[in-house]
Amino acid sequence: MGAATNTTAAVVFSPQVDMAEQFLATLCGEGARHGKVNVNGIADVLLEIPSGLPGDAVAERIKGADFAMLILRYMDEETLSVARALLRSLPPAAQATVHFVIARQPGEVEFKMSCPKCGQKLLIKDSLAFRRTQCPRCKHPFTIPGQADLLRQEFLIPPIHKISRVQLGDLESCSTAVANAYRQASARRPEEKSQTMRLDELLTEQIGEGSDQASP
Ligand SMILES: [Zn+2]
Repeated sequence: MGAATNTTAAVVFSPQVDMAEQFLATLCGEGARHGKVNVNGIADVLLEIPSGLPGDAVAERIKGADFAMLILRYMDEETLSVARALLRSLPPAAQATVHFVIARQPGEVEFKMSCPKCGQKLLIKDSLAFRRTQCPRCKHPFTIPGQADLLRQEFLIPPIHKISRVQLGDLESCSTAVANAYRQASARRPEEKSQTMRLDELLTEQIGEGSDQASP
């Protein structure tokens, strides 16, 4: 077997760091911060959880990687705003390599979101998705979104990008998510890689370090 295997670097991150850790533990063993996952015999993906909470250091690691995986369990406004801030700090080409993963604990059948009007955190059963309800706090009526739909809407995820669903502790779903993320990144890599670096330099000169000014 002399077939050449591509090696690709990916960052795993989450507003809840323990979600990223459990995801990597499922793939690479308990306590792993780094690991290697083979995707269908065509690529070795080197996964890394950057140390620290989401922030500038994590954004730098994502910019240096081939792609990133954002692991989300809760979808309340507080959690989403952490993810949103991090994504906004990335240049568009790096944003496009971020693959969204909805993670569940084994047996978990509900998810957390915020009331679209007053922001009250709500725990919602999966079986209630797409039904009309009203916020128990402010009585605002709304249709309960599916988790994937909510993510697409919040982060403007284009329809061509899959959203993976994994159960933490389940090797098969977690491996599939890595394969999905790899495909999403490799589909757009060829013509964009050199442009990404030029854009980075431009942005740095114009808005300086530490600015979180969003690009339109
Ligand atoms: Zn409300």
